Amino acid sequence: MKSISKRTVFSLVLACILLFGVATFVIRYFLYADRWVSFTGSPHVYTNGKLNTGEILDRSGTVLYSSEKSKNYSDSATTRRATLHLMGDRAGNIPARILRAYASKLFGYDKLNGTAAMESSGGELRLSVSAQVQAIAMQAMNGRKGAVGVYNYRTGEILCALSSPTFDPLDPPDLEHDNGDGRYDGVYVYRFFHATYTPGSIFKLTTLAAALEENPELANETFSCEGKLTINGEQITCPHPHGRQSLSEALSNSCNCAFAQITLRLGKQKLLAQADAIGLYRSYEIDGITTSRGHLDLSDANENDLAWAGIGQYTDLVNPCQYMVYMGAIANNGKAAEPWLVSSAQSAGRETYRASTSMTAQMLTKQTAAALREMMRMNVKRMYGAVDIPGVNVCAKSGTAEVGEDENTATFAGFLDSDEYPLAFIVVVEKGGAGSSTCAPIARAVLEGCINVMDGE
Ligand SMILES: [Zn+2]
Repeated sequence: MKSISKRTVFSLVLACILLFGVATFVIRYFLYADRWVSFTGSPHVYTNGKLNTGEILDRSGTVLYSSEKSKNYSDSATTRRATLHLMGDRAGNIPARILRAYASKLFGYDKLNGTAAMESSGGELRLSVSAQVQAIAMQAMNGRKGAVGVYNYRTGEILCALSSPTFDPLDPPDLEHDNGDGRYDGVYVYRFFHATYTPGSIFKLTTLAAALEENPELANETFSCEGKLTINGEQITCPHPHGRQSLSEALSNSCNCAFAQITLRLGKQKLLAQADAIGLYRSYEIDGITTSRGHLDLSDANENDLAWAGIGQYTDLVNPCQYMVYMGAIANNGKAAEPWLVSSAQSAGRETYRASTSMTAQMLTKQTAAALREMMRMNVKRMYGAVDIPGVNVCAKSGTAEVGEDENTATFAGFLDSDEYPLAFIVVVEKGGAGSSTCAPIARAVLEGCINVMDGE
């Protein structure tokens, strides 16, 4: 009897282990099967690391990547260069994150029929970006390093997400033996999504939002500027004295002395809270791409540091994509659509994915957003004629961030206050000198490109 019961227990234990194993497998299969089948290296889907089936198109139907083509990428060298960071390079130094994220939806893989459906026909992935606008942005950047982004703040579709510099994936440069001029420095980084920059004066839009949320009456105050202000024994300076100004004029003049006073009155905690509210510290999950977080740390800041932080210097860092979304929130009464890149996926003639719009949290009140919109419109009228496109109410703020000896990052951010073209944008040019003169013509060319593309749809 004793040995029988021992055997029974033993087989029960075995049965339990087996059941547990099967259950684990089934659960994991349903959770992860599409990842297993589409991981880079699956023979059903990839040959030599390349996609076996399917096409990737831009918003206008331009082919960016195709398994049918012998060399896979677009026939146009301009399109190949302008979309390099979206499509990835052949060596895998720039990963094709979108492709990886949507592989299973593109191949027609499903959990019951496996990869059987994949043999019959290729899938199609439709992006929200415009190859034409990407090319305009690339040409406007003209080899300078930085990022250009434009998106629809009502729907979330990204029309432009350019990282510069770039190269032709069918003719990659020999970076090992680069001639040392540094023109490809950081070329593998998708700057628009993954770089962070000292924002300079575009950060005044965060400080100003905090100050107006705290005290809406600030809009009626005036600020005097003598060209310099001593705080904690150190100076805050403006290029020249701005005299007495309204709040709106102080923003247009980008008066450091006025914004130093505004920041000090506000205090550390409220500036930090506003940075949090506008999403500075968060990252966005965008179709396989995770954006980098910004940075604002005032824990060791003295009063002078705090003033510079409110002006967009000190240790402030922003990610271009995140700050573009903030521009969308100002345009759209305080909250904006979360950005996306992939509009739809099809497999064997069947739609397997369609993008939907979800909104960010309320970043600022409707009233504050309206006040900022009006002031940013005045900025363009007073200072940035170069970006003013007739009939679409361009609103903007420029920045010239000091990042080293004689080295400035030029920044320019804003939106169109328009129901027809609800677009927010950002332009960043490393070593770009003055923000508005460098970036406004780039922004204008790219926005006009977007308007043309949208008119054609
Ligand atoms: Zn000033």
